Amino acid sequence: MIALILASAISLLALSGFIVYWFIRNKKGRPSNQKINQLTGALRSKEVQSEILIQSITDGIIVTDTAGTISLINAAAAKMSEWPAEEATGIDARAVLRLIADEKTNQAVSDDDHPLTCVLKKREGTQKTIQFNSRSGKHLFISLVISPVIDPHSSDLVGTIAVFRDVSREKSEEQQRAEFISTASHEMRTPVAAIEGYLALALNENVSKIDMKAREYLEKAHSSTQHLGKLFQDLLTSAKAEDGRLTSHPVVTEMGGFAEQLVEDLKFTAQKKGLGVEFITNSNATNAQGVVDTRGATVRPLYYSHVDPDRIREVITNVFDNAVKYTEQGKVSLGITGNDDVVQLRVGDTGPGIPVADIPHLFQKFYRVDNTATRTIGGTGLGLFICRKIVELYGGTIWAESEVGKGSTFYINLPRLSTQRATQLQQSEKTDILSE
Ligand code: ADP
Repeated sequence: MIALILASAISLLALSGFIVYWFIRNKKGRPSNQKINQLTGALRSKEVQSEILIQSITDGIIVTDTAGTISLINAAAAKMSEWPAEEATGIDARAVLRLIADEKTNQAVSDDDHPLTCVLKKREGTQKTIQFNSRSGKHLFISLVISPVIDPHSSDLVGTIAVFRDVSREKSEEQQRAEFISTASHEMRTPVAAIEGYLALALNENVSKIDMKAREYLEKAHSSTQHLGKLFQDLLTSAKAEDGRLTSHPVVTEMGGFAEQLVEDLKFTAQKKGLGVEFITNSNATNAQGVVDTRGATVRPLYYSHVDPDRIREVITNVFDNAVKYTEQGKVSLGITGNDDVVQLRVGDTGPGIPVADIPHLFQKFYRVDNTATRTIGGTGLGLFICRKIVELYGGTIWAESEVGKGSTFYINLPRLSTQRATQLQQSEKTDILSE
């Protein structure tokens, strides 16, 4: 928002300067000195106003040109980065906005991966919460928004504006909350598992004799305990996902074969419910590299991605199980397609669909659509949140499209590796294993 206001302020300033210049140049005859002084004074006062405004904003602001060189840095940005404005002006913003890629090793984000480089390259804004190191090496968590500044007349990119604020305190409170949830759910899982085990024994006809009424009550208690166990497990996983403790061992994975196998494993739950199951693969994809059949024809392209297959299995299983859980009749499907940069997996169903108003909230913690289906079908509202966290771990995205009464499709986009890059990575993975 601030970036938008600033962009407008800078454009207005440039525009007013241009109007004054144009006015002076185009006025018939020579303008009087008084008129010129008045206009210059007005322009100067606008400049002073903008300067005061920018310097008083408590968020850090850095304005750059198209090369990423700082042309303006406000007092808050200078304070947070510990770079005095006089020194920072004229140097590369990526040196001042030192972002950290890996919190454990304190490894800085490379210039190529820096969000500023992406904004300059793609001319699209970006937003993230990321660790930042000040000049003296002090760690801060900042919420950073970088927007491109586009000339409204020529549509040319003229620079960028970065707006950032220190969110270290919020981040540390969030971490404490996550730690509490993680410890509590870990501790509670053990007694819940014991209760579930004893209830299962009580329900086992070979072990105990109980009457029909007691069986009915114990079955209900057993199913609630199972639900509680799942809730604690999901809470633990989501707390880990939030504070970056989710274990992940990415390897080069051919997603087409992986998805095909997964459908084989998952189809039984759907078939048990009388639902059809489909695996859809894009054999017309443009990429020449592909699985080749016995006659030498390309059957389907190879979709390589660098992910932990166990984690991605968790994601697809969750989305697929949801499709089965919420669909009463028809079919569920898993599809795979992609282009040079992206592998796209999609899980479709012919279920009740999701109202438009709920779609943006589906991937938030504990969000469940309020309808008869969710009231009768059990769930924790954490599954899709965990899915989003896992997909984001690999630089991917997940979203849903749906029409009430027709069904839903969940899409998962993961970065695709070229076959050449995949082979290189596979070689280095093999070398790593041998040297271990
Ligand atoms: P839950 O444990 O409740 O299934 P999720 O996070 O997996 O939690 O899903 C969140 C909510 O999204 C669900 O409660 C349900 O309302 C809705 N939802 C998810 N998948 C589907 C689907 N395939 N069809 C209809 N609604 C869905």
